[in-house]
Amino acid sequence: MPAYEVLYSPLFREHKPEEYHPENPSRLDYAIEGLKANDLWKNIREPEEATPNDLLGVHERPYVARVRELSKSSGNLDPDTYVSPGTWNAALKAFGASREAALSAMERKGLYLALVRPPGHHSGRNGKAFNAPTLGFCIFNNIAGAAKLVEALDGKAVIIDFDAHHGNGTQEIFWNDPNVIHIDIHETDIYPWSGHEHEVGGRDAKGTKVNIPMPHYSRDDDYIFVWREIVVPIVENLDPKVILISAGFDGFRGEHLTTLRLTERFFRYAGSTLSKYSLTVILEGGYDVGLRKGLPAFIEGHLSGIETEETVHPSYETLKTVEKIIEIQKKQWEL
Ligand SMILES: [Zn+2]
Repeated sequence: MPAYEVLYSPLFREHKPEEYHPENPSRLDYAIEGLKANDLWKNIREPEEATPNDLLGVHERPYVARVRELSKSSGNLDPDTYVSPGTWNAALKAFGASREAALSAMERKGLYLALVRPPGHHSGRNGKAFNAPTLGFCIFNNIAGAAKLVEALDGKAVIIDFDAHHGNGTQEIFWNDPNVIHIDIHETDIYPWSGHEHEVGGRDAKGTKVNIPMPHYSRDDDYIFVWREIVVPIVENLDPKVILISAGFDGFRGEHLTTLRLTERFFRYAGSTLSKYSLTVILEGGYDVGLRKGLPAFIEGHLSGIETEETVHPSYETLKTVEKIIEIQKKQWEL
């Protein structure tokens, strides 16, 4: 039996907004409610917090200092991203939990869920990444910390980011690192307005960044098709010891930040195709129903150990997107 553990701390609730904000502590209630309903709220472990020094493997010192200083009181890093007196400790704990989940996944095959807040994938070395106007609710890049650890132990790290938004912070941090493969599937032309097909990595890392910008209103059929045609072949080619997942559920139908209409079907399928790998699943976005339904479906798919067979009818736009990505990436990958 593969292991299953949840790394969680009540400290993740201490990062909280003064006024209404979609990224708030109730998100953890939705996630826990969904896990409980599927008998997945178990094997809960309190993670160690990271040290400020651990952060410096990923972020520049002035950014870390700025977060620490600002979170002495309530305020904003930018118009989207708030801090509160609990932010510093919550963010250190989230970063530590993500690294610990990666270490466990290296040691013993299983699924290790870092059920953390604040999220991280929009956070670059110095805060905002590339041309993004804001940090998009993120503080420290949790998955980047996990990837650095796996890279040091295994020589390479594989990240799959299926949050509805592009993981621009993660991409910026590893842009010139050929040993970190980052596959990112997200809705096209929304915040942070990066993640185009032709963004494939810096000079020494070409082809190690794979961007899949999905058409607006994409459904399960579109996502399953793309996952089968691009994500699975690349992962099989790499045969990693551990896969790190930037797990965002804001593409679920009924979530309000995007136009995507995914359901349990896609998330279960995605988890099932990765059954043979050890997973570190790090929470990114998802603000409501996606956490209650998408998160447990992904975990169940993985733990089932059986790859789901799916017949799909993708849209014309999705077929064109896949064609374009294969054309761009064929030098690097057998697709
Ligand atoms: Zn998102």
